[in-house]
Parts: sequence; C-alpha cells; structure tokens
Amino acid sequence: MIFFRRSKLPLILLSTISIIILSCGQQQQNLADTAVHDSINNKAASSADTLTTSANEIADAATILSKKQVPVLCYHDIKNWPPNLRTSMKEYIVPIQNFKDQMKILHDSGYKTISPDEYYAYLTTGAPLPEKPVMITYDDTDEEQFTIGKTEMDKYGFKGVYFIMTISIGRPRYMNKEQIKQLADEGHTIASHTWDHHSVKKYEGDDWDNQLLKSKNTIEGITGKPVQYFAYPFGLWKPEAFPELEKRGYKAAFILSTSRDTTAPLYTIRRMIVPGTWSTASMINSMKKTFNRN
Ligand SMILES: [Zn+2]
Repeated sequence: MIFFRRSKLPLILLSTISIIILSCGQQQQNLADTAVHDSINNKAASSADTLTTSANEIADAATILSKKQVPVLCYHDIKNWPPNLRTSMKEYIVPIQNFKDQMKILHDSGYKTISPDEYYAYLTTGAPLPEKPVMITYDDTDEEQFTIGKTEMDKYGFKGVYFIMTISIGRPRYMNKEQIKQLADEGHTIASHTWDHHSVKKYEGDDWDNQLLKSKNTIEGITGKPVQYFAYPFGLWKPEAFPELEKRGYKAAFILSTSRDTTAPLYTIRRMIVPGTWSTASMINSMKKTFNRN
C-alpha cells in the first residue's frame, strides 16, 4: 500500500511530461484517424440518442465542438505542503486554505456547479445551463476530497464529481465505501477513474473489462446508481477507447487540458488541474483561457 501510494505522484508527473511531449503527435494522429472516428462517433451518437429521452437527435461532433465549454476543475490532494516539498509536486497538492479560498471565490463570483448529466444534456441537446457554470472534479479517491472537499462545497451548495480509482477504496488515506455512498446520496456524482490507474493508452484484451467495467460495477454496487462518466488516468487516451467506453455504458469521458478529439468530443471533454501554487485570481483567469480555446 505504501509502495503504491508513494509511486502514484511520480507516475502522474511522468505522465504530465508525456502529455506535453505527446500532444503534438496526438494532433497529427487525430487528423489521420478522422475517418475511423467518424464511424465510432456515429455509433456513439446513435447509442447516446437512445439514452436521451428529451430529444430525438443529439448534436453532431462539429456542433458540440462549437459550443462554449464549461470550466471543469480537477483536484488531487488537498493538504498542506510538507517541508521541502519539491516544486514539481506542488501541482497536485493544493494547500487547505488555498482550496477554501478557491471555493469561496467561485461562489462569490457567481459560479454554480453543474453535474456531468447537465453538461452532457447541454452539449447534446442544447439544454440550458446556469449563467456561470463550473464543474468541480476530484481524482484518485483521496480521503480529504471527502473530509475537506465536500465540507467546503457544502458551505456553498456545490456538488462535485468524484472519479474513483476502485483499487484504493478503503485503504488508509483513501475514501471508504460509506463515504462514497454518502457522497452519492447527497447528490454528488460518482464516476470511474479505472480500477488501478494504468494508462488507457496501454489497454488491450481483458484490460478494457478490468479497468472500465470492473470499476463501474464496483462503484454501482456501492452507490446503487449508474456510473456513466469516466476520467482517463493522467488525461491520456487513444481513439480505441471511445467504442470500448460506449459499449460499457459510459456516455462521456474527461481528459485534461489537451486538445479534444475532433470527431468524438463527448469522449474527450476538457478539464484543468488547479495547481497548488495558484492564487484565486490565477485560477479564474486560467478558467477563462483554458476553456475558450478549441
Ligand atoms: Zn488519477
């Protein structure tokens, strides 16, 4: 357990570097794969359509890509920095007071939290959103996302989205089943972040069921509610994931601040990590910049 815990952050950091290195190549790959994605996207769209009772048709990829994006914040650890913490680690650890200030500025600036269901309905059917929508998401099942994250959000009536890595449930310093059930009961969205956080880019064969289905079934067994949303570990994805997600009942999936797939935007919805070093002003400015580009 300790080994796993200690190994997690360096893995995340390595992947962040990978995102930067891979992003240029990924653009080219996206273009080359357009034809393949078209059929995937059509399939996903028709399937999603059957899930949507309020509309006969859902928007096509170009329409979805043209819509104004909702800022989606991504948090990992919320705790005070230990002495001598490496600068590179500060991206993933938000000091408690910073987090409190960030929730307060969102509230004071008029932001309202929305759920993935609301974002999905807006993207696919044009359902209305609040004037200043935001989504607050948490990755990796860390316990303080419940003890601090939920407590702070409760002050403002905010609801969050918890992307659960199911292998960690009940381990020391991670959320347990009861906490996850309580979050679901109180209206937060519980979603999947795989079984054990391996990169989707490496999946083949049984990996799809082990990572996408096993985690979904585990969470649904805890909450009694369907799991329909997914966040890629490290924000890394490959096009083969779209039909694999779709056939296991996922309506949408979330990346990080990289480019969305031009033919499957519902499976590449953008999020933004809030680094522990940011002021509240940096966060608000970055929300505007990150979600205003294609
Ligand atoms: Zn993660």
